Amino acid sequence: MNGVMGQLDDTICAVATPRGEGGIGVVRMSGEQAIPIASRVVILRSGCSLDQIPSHKLCLGDVFRHRDMPTVSQGNKGTVLLDEVLAVAMKAPHSYTGEDVVEIHCHGGSLVVHEICQALASEGARLAEPGEFTKRAFLNGRMDLSQAEAVLDTIQATTVTSLQVAQGQLRGGLSKRVEDIRQELIKALAHLEAGMDFVEEDIQCFEWDEMEATLRATFQKISRFLDRFEEGRILREGILAAIIGRPNVGKSSLLNALVQHDRAMVSSIPGTTRDIIEEWINVEGIPFRLVDTAGFRTPEGLLEEEGIRRAKEMVALADLVFIVVDGSEELTDQDKSLIQEQDQKKCVVILNKVDLPLRISLVELDSLLTLGSLHPSCLPPRKIVKLSAKTGQGMDDLRRAIHDMCQVGQLESSDSVLITKLRHKILLEQAREALGKSLSSVEQKMAGECIALDLRSAIESLGEITGEVSTDDVLDRIFKEFCIGK
Ligand code: GDP
Repeated sequence: MNGVMGQLDDTICAVATPRGEGGIGVVRMSGEQAIPIASRVVILRSGCSLDQIPSHKLCLGDVFRHRDMPTVSQGNKGTVLLDEVLAVAMKAPHSYTGEDVVEIHCHGGSLVVHEICQALASEGARLAEPGEFTKRAFLNGRMDLSQAEAVLDTIQATTVTSLQVAQGQLRGGLSKRVEDIRQELIKALAHLEAGMDFVEEDIQCFEWDEMEATLRATFQKISRFLDRFEEGRILREGILAAIIGRPNVGKSSLLNALVQHDRAMVSSIPGTTRDIIEEWINVEGIPFRLVDTAGFRTPEGLLEEEGIRRAKEMVALADLVFIVVDGSEELTDQDKSLIQEQDQKKCVVILNKVDLPLRISLVELDSLLTLGSLHPSCLPPRKIVKLSAKTGQGMDDLRRAIHDMCQVGQLESSDSVLITKLRHKILLEQAREALGKSLSSVEQKMAGECIALDLRSAIESLGEITGEVSTDDVLDRIFKEFCIGK
């Protein structure tokens, strides 16, 4: 099962904390040689060596890097004192990876952590690949694959609700449900196979009705998971909302008002937002990925042209579009065509600048929203919200409108077992399809081998979710999404 990056017999090291300055930085190491390597680099103040101290005990020490070139420092000739640290050894199998793990907690500077990592590497540790610690945890049986994936979801969670779902998966909620279904199918397959063995003697080892009931029940369980995938996906990936509008209507101001800090550059010179600006907001637990696009207008220059091209791509991908219009001016042809172009999308028309005297025609705006290439009954949800990005008036109405439009009200944060990943969805669909086939074979009382074939395929798809069945390719794809040090 070991992929290109996983030789479990070597010792890996990496900086586990993000780049940049921080209160502390953590360098971690995992593998058979972790403790001996760390003992050569960390000199404990107690005078003991790291391999003599109890597992999971944090100890004060100093980290030295041995140099080939003699260097004069506070340490011995040829060694450089890098930092005062706290070090801990976590002995196998009671560690994250299931191997001997050492963590060195040092001051959080980019250079310090880098130098400590290099010191460990020069004593024989290999610099870890992205996700390699978690991959080892999986390969050593500390967690299954869906739990390992939930580690990444936990790191990337943007709202408390998404975090709850990730934690539910990390604690094995999803794995347990999937494994229960898989076990039911394995049992059904065993009955079936036993029956097939005795077919010559005409002994019936299973009841057709019972088999049908089991397969139907598992089919429905899988369907229930799949039905809620969209909710899970929203929680993990967020809702992509694009802000569009002609230049100077207040798109950047709106983004700023939503994120409540000055992320986007606000300017009264049309065309300032030449590229895509992205921010995350949290609307009652639902993550929204907001993108402020370049003002849609005739481009002046290549840069702006590129900005508009990318903006159009974003809008095509968006789950929700905010079309901003300036309420202090009359609707322009460009406003009208922007609204009409988006008649296939869920959108909120934001009538901005209501702090100024209103000059826009609300009747005209209303009629534009009900016109479109689609029959009014088929139009996606669309709303008008009046606000002032400058004064903040109407911002709560906007939040309410977007929350309602995304039908996220039904999300039950308490039910944290949701599928959130496309990989899981595809595998569950495959399992359901195979199960559907075996179910119709059962209904038609077809040959046992025929039923068994699809049943085995359903079992295999379910096994791929938890990693009971996995290939190097799948593992590499999953773990390369992780950061180095995790
Ligand atoms: P964008 O080009 O659509 O991103 O527009 P900006 O957000 O850069 O805003 C253009 C101008 O309109 C700036 O001078 C803003 O201060 C101003 N503006 C934006 N929103 C409002 C608002 O609600 N009321 C008023 N009075 N001015 C606004």
